[in-house]
Amino acid sequence: MDKEWMCHSRESETYVVGVDMFLNFAFRNVVTRWGEILCPCRDCVNGMYQSHIACRDHLIIRGFMPNYKVWRVHGEALASSVQNENDNEPGVAGAGMHGMVNDIFVSRPGDPSVQVANFYKYMNDAE
Ligand SMILES: [Zn+2]
Repeated sequence: MDKEWMCHSRESETYVVGVDMFLNFAFRNVVTRWGEILCPCRDCVNGMYQSHIACRDHLIIRGFMPNYKVWRVHGEALASSVQNENDNEPGVAGAGMHGMVNDIFVSRPGDPSVQVANFYKYMNDAE
């Protein structure tokens, strides 16, 4: 997600549009408490619940708390870690299963069914 707007001046339109984008993202991704989310502004530092409007005011007037680039508390890391689990686990399990299937079905020189076939061939030749 592009967060370049977070470096812009808080008076700039880019920043305000970014704040609205952040709030839409946060209210869509986190379970809100009575319609409030943890406010990541300088003063609340994710320790206080605020309404959409209050949070917007805080972020525009005070700005984001320092180094809040990954919106961990607002659903961002949660979404990407679920994504990673889905990507990795079936791949690992699949590789193990593939190996097992090969062990079972690869035919070997001493295969009993081959020996039985040779035995009947031998018996037929003898008659
Ligand atoms: Zn705040």
